[in-house]
Amino acid sequence: MTTSMTPDQLRNLILISRFSSPAESAEDEERWIKKIPLMALIGRGVKTNVFTEYDIAPSLIEYHGDTQFANMSKEGEDDIKDLRTLGLVERLKLATKHHYYVSAYRVTKAGTDFVKDADPAHHRAIDDLLRCAKCGDQVEVIIKSNNPYLRCRKCDMEEELHFLDIEEVPYVTSPVFPEIWLPK
Ligand SMILES: [Zn+2]
Repeated sequence: MTTSMTPDQLRNLILISRFSSPAESAEDEERWIKKIPLMALIGRGVKTNVFTEYDIAPSLIEYHGDTQFANMSKEGEDDIKDLRTLGLVERLKLATKHHYYVSAYRVTKAGTDFVKDADPAHHRAIDDLLRCAKCGDQVEVIIKSNNPYLRCRKCDMEEELHFLDIEEVPYVTSPVFPEIWLPK
């Protein structure tokens, strides 16, 4: 394949590949990563400069049965769309018990081949993003009501991801007082 990709697209693909896999045979189980854990990891990657062209901004999402603002990367979402168009990632839409849909993503066979050929520097960047600070193993993401957390099974380490902690909510404005109320 001669597709040209940006470093961020490639790292996004590598990230998805760390938590998903296509079935190699009929007995094989496919693994998928849900959108929220993925976006929480991308958000962490934006803050730690793993993704240099991405930004995060508050966006409304369904989280733990509630509609909430979360630090979402629009560019990260757009790149996942591009990776799907390129046939490197597949999406699955799952209906939840709260009657909304969540997306899950998985790397395709073509995507795994692409990841294998990627520059080791990109793999190292994703290794750093996912490494347990204590033992060096790859972490996973668990969803708690207040935030997603990184979790290392091996040493029971947990680290809160500040996915739902919004610094600036766009619709909040300062109160406006009519001039007559202002102290003279
Ligand atoms: Zn660990």
